[in-house]
Amino acid sequence: MASKDLVIFDCDMVLSNSAHRQKYKEDGKLDLDHWRANCTEEQIKKDVPQQKYLAKMLHAINDDKLVVIMTARVLSNWDYQWFKEHLPKGITGILSREGNDTQADHTLKLGMLEEIKCYLNMSNNITMYDDNPSIINAMQKAGVNTHLVTDGNKT
Ligand SMILES: [Mg+2]
Repeated sequence: MASKDLVIFDCDMVLSNSAHRQKYKEDGKLDLDHWRANCTEEQIKKDVPQQKYLAKMLHAINDDKLVVIMTARVLSNWDYQWFKEHLPKGITGILSREGNDTQADHTLKLGMLEEIKCYLNMSNNITMYDDNPSIINAMQKAGVNTHLVTDGNKT
């Protein structure tokens, strides 16, 4: 069986600039109550698509790669609406946090990676774009080709 490479994209501050909905607490952690209060149709519609990474996504799809979104968001219908409006056609899947799951983002995403790996040939190359250094570190240790995104707020 031919093996396909896998490319994983984070959502917030990679495919989507959602900074207008984010507030950080004094300890540097995301204020989740503020985030949840702003997960409304009106606010999600204001998230700005990041053309640079959407173009990379399209390129990967056209290269016949498996393309997956891995997000620590708990997704609502409005999130899916945004995806439908802004993502290129042809992605393989979207993996997101369950509503009752409170584990740290990097352990959440490592778990998602392990699940995906069950369906992949061992020789598959896996590449990931994410703006969270702790996720990038964890993925690097798991053998993923990582790209730390620092310009996901440009457009
Ligand atoms: Mg992010």
